[in-house]
Amino acid sequence: TDIKELLLSRIRDVADYPEPGVMFKDITPLLADPAAFTALTDALAEIAANTGATKVVGLEARGFILGAPVAVRAGLGFIPVRKAGKLPGATLSQAYDLEYGSAEIEVHAEDLAAGDRVLVIDDVLATGGTAEASIQLIRRAGADVAGLAVLMELGFLSGRARLEPSLAGAPLEAL
Ligand code: IMP
Repeated sequence: TDIKELLLSRIRDVADYPEPGVMFKDITPLLADPAAFTALTDALAEIAANTGATKVVGLEARGFILGAPVAVRAGLGFIPVRKAGKLPGATLSQAYDLEYGSAEIEVHAEDLAAGDRVLVIDDVLATGGTAEASIQLIRRAGADVAGLAVLMELGFLSGRARLEPSLAGAPLEAL
């Protein structure tokens, strides 16, 4: 489709970043192009409407950049899921495994409650570890997951298959 070509044309492949052997998908050219950034925001806001989301969660850090304008466009509140130690209030936290070591993400406990339907937004779905941990966090807060929407899915890392159990039927949309 037209939008897919526009978005793809604004993503830069950077070889051997952040380490040798990795092909990094850099979205900064897309962010710098108002037509592409607007098209992306509109497409994600449509997903928010279609899934009946009542809140938007963005995953640090590029999920903040993409998710915040979507929340505004869709008329929904924006909630940041942050790396551990960044949120000042009472938090729920969720640890998850990385290729080497582990990581931890947090959300303000008061930002999510029973009855909320949350659309999770990030730029890139890779192994799915970050998204899986965020879904666990949202469920532990008592809220439901309306869906997961990403700009890009790296299919060869099989994140979609990993997320199937935790998504439990909620849609995974990759633009
Ligand atoms: P995962 O947990 O393995 O799915 O990794 C996803 C997280 O890593 C997301 O928050 C992405 O922003 C980031 N990430 C992984 N690969 C890339 C990439 O090629 N470009 C930009 N971000 C990436």
